[in-house]
Amino acid sequence: MLKKREELIMRIGFFGAAGEVTGSCTLVETETARFLVDCGMFQGGPEARSKNLHALKFDFDVRAIDFVLLTHAHIDHSGLLPRLAVMGFRGPIYATPATIDLLHVLLPDSAFIQEKESEWQLRHRRRSGKGERGLPAPLYTVEQAKSSLKLLRPIGYRETLHAAETVSVKFHDAGHILGSAWLEVAVSEPGKTHALVFSGDLGMYDRPLLHNPEKVIPEADLLLVESTYGNRLHRPLAETEDEIVATFKRTRGERGNLIIPSFAVGRTQEIIYVLCDLVRRQRIEPIKIYVDSPMARAATQITFEHPQLLDAETHELIDWWRANQEKVNIEFVADVEHSKALNEIRSDAVIISASGMCEAGRIKYHLRQNLPRRECSILITGFQAAGTLGRRLVDGAHLVHIFGQPVPVRAHIHTVGGLSAHADQAALLDWLRGFHRAPGRTFLIHGEIEASTVFAKAIEDDLGWKNITLPHRGEFITL
Ligand SMILES: [Zn+2]
Repeated sequence: MLKKREELIMRIGFFGAAGEVTGSCTLVETETARFLVDCGMFQGGPEARSKNLHALKFDFDVRAIDFVLLTHAHIDHSGLLPRLAVMGFRGPIYATPATIDLLHVLLPDSAFIQEKESEWQLRHRRRSGKGERGLPAPLYTVEQAKSSLKLLRPIGYRETLHAAETVSVKFHDAGHILGSAWLEVAVSEPGKTHALVFSGDLGMYDRPLLHNPEKVIPEADLLLVESTYGNRLHRPLAETEDEIVATFKRTRGERGNLIIPSFAVGRTQEIIYVLCDLVRRQRIEPIKIYVDSPMARAATQITFEHPQLLDAETHELIDWWRANQEKVNIEFVADVEHSKALNEIRSDAVIISASGMCEAGRIKYHLRQNLPRRECSILITGFQAAGTLGRRLVDGAHLVHIFGQPVPVRAHIHTVGGLSAHADQAALLDWLRGFHRAPGRTFLIHGEIEASTVFAKAIEDDLGWKNITLPHRGEFITL
């Protein structure tokens, strides 16, 4: 049945990060344009694989998408871009220059992990005499990931992008990770221009490295806002610093090593910042930091290549560090042999390594070496999903298995909660206060149901807004 014309003005489709925190992908259709905001991978949980396989199956050919707007480089926002390209999309993907630099590292790496996983499954099946039928293929190969990078088009903060005849876009600093943006989109239809705001992921205020999230434009007809931590408040950074100082001193006093599992992009650079700052303020003694992750090395390099994205405090700290490199000696470990040599170090080393949840990568070697020693410490600085090695350590396991071997846990395990790339409830509300009046409609995305529900209530109570919706995956809303 044909709908009335005024109902056809705009259609929003929620394809991911609706009622959950991964798989960000929103479709916007107007009379004259059709575009996606983000194209992320589903991560974690047993259903992620099948959700990724069945994602991007729209009721039209992906070649009919005019363009993609990408808020930031995190895989849960960008990880299906190569898949979109494999399915035939050839349009431009707009992102900030720093996001594009990070994607050149992250997307091929995501493909590489998938290829390895497939190879492992294939060997496993052959060994156990099973056939190869139904074997999960990678969502895309390294070659395909690299080829999709050619679709990326840089757009700076606050520049006006005429993405289509009727659609113009501005990217604003979201303060979440390097290059992250929230988007201001203007859609012109006969007689009216609609203002759409997409928050992407928002960062905390007054945190290491990045600028604060830019304040929003005063008015919007439609707002999509993340709600990852819409139900909680982060601990103050000062508390986290105190905990790091205490852990560092105890480990140094007992002549052990301090091992820090960390995500390569963002968190590693924040930890380097905090440690460097603590030495500068003479709260801890001079240190030697080994950053043992090729991706962390690349991400740190990219961070230094975009100095304008770093805040004034960070520039000051970098200047201090350049003049005091003997006090904070940072070594980026490139080759595997050198990484193995770190296993010989018995004391006083600070080793930052990936992956952040201790599931893969070089961190596993460092944990195998240092977990059995009670004079060593493991500092957990990020979220640890259920079922990961990192989570078992946080939960107080006395014995874990690494590379199939039992490893006793005698080292001290410390968790610090004050470093988060995501705004907490107070910071989200603060950002929303930038609107002079309530947006026509507000959709809460990128949050577990519980977090989004609590956040919706907070917005109603604190800001007096109405028309707040928690969309479901696969839902379309016509405006
Ligand atoms: Zn993110």
